[in-house]
Amino acid sequence: MNQLSYNSSIGENKIPVAELIVDDVPLAKLLGRDDLIGFDGGISSRPPLEPDPNKTYVLAVCSCGYSECGSVEGRIISPTGAIGETTIFKDFKYASKNPILEFTRENYTSVIRAIEEEFHEFELQRLKKKQEQELLEYAHKKEVVAAYLEALVQLASLPDLVDRTARTMHCEPDEVTALEIARWLVSPMIFEERRELVDEALQDIGEQTSGLGLGLQFSDGELLRWSLRVTTDDTGRKLIIEGYSDDKSAPFINRTVDLSAIL
Ligand SMILES: [Zn+2]
Repeated sequence: MNQLSYNSSIGENKIPVAELIVDDVPLAKLLGRDDLIGFDGGISSRPPLEPDPNKTYVLAVCSCGYSECGSVEGRIISPTGAIGETTIFKDFKYASKNPILEFTRENYTSVIRAIEEEFHEFELQRLKKKQEQELLEYAHKKEVVAAYLEALVQLASLPDLVDRTARTMHCEPDEVTALEIARWLVSPMIFEERRELVDEALQDIGEQTSGLGLGLQFSDGELLRWSLRVTTDDTGRKLIIEGYSDDKSAPFINRTVDLSAIL
C-alpha cells in the first residue's frame, strides 16, 4: 500500500498549488516528470472526492499553472477488494513511468478533502479582500466627490455670481440665467477658481474632460472615475449639483443651490 500526502505552496498565479506526494516522493517526479508541480483550483479536472473510473484526471501541471503547457494525467479507480476499500492511480498519460499506485480510500479522501478545503478557504479570503477594497474605494470616491461638489456650491454662492458668469460667458448680466450659471460652474475657463476651493490633497486629481456642457469628469492617481453634473430645476431658479460614480446611473450625492434671490 502506498501513502498519499500533499505539499501546499503558492504558485505563479498567486493561488495555492497542491502537489501530490506518494511515499515522500512528488508524484510528478515518480512518473518521470520532474518539470511539473501540483495543480491549483483552476484545474477543473483535478482529482475529486468521488472519482469517475472512466475519466482521466490531471495530477500535476507545469509551474505556470496551465495544464495545456504540460501535465500528467491518470485514471483514479476505487475498487473494493480483499484489503478493503482502496483508491488506485493507474494508466498515466504524458508520463515516462507507469506504476500502479494504491492507497486506502480513507487516505485518498482525507488528502483530497484537505486540498479542497484549502482552495475554498483561499477563495473566500480573496473575495473578502476584494469586497473590502471595493468598499474602501467607494468611500474614498464619495469623499473626493463631496469635496469637489462643495467647491461648486461655494462658487455658486458668491455674491457677485451673476457678474462673474456674465464676464466669463461673454453676455450681459441681465441675460444670465440659471442655465448660464450651471455652464459657468463647469466651464474650462474657471478651472483655477474651482481648483482654489478644493483641499490641497485633491489638487492632483485631474479634470479629465471639460466642455461637456453641464458636467465635469475626473480621474485621480488611483483611476477612480467619477463625474459632477450641474443642471437646473423646472423653475429655472435652482441649481442641482450631482456627483456620479461612473459605474452607477443615479447620483450618489447631490446639493441644491437656490438662486431666486439673485435671478
Ligand atoms: Zn508552463
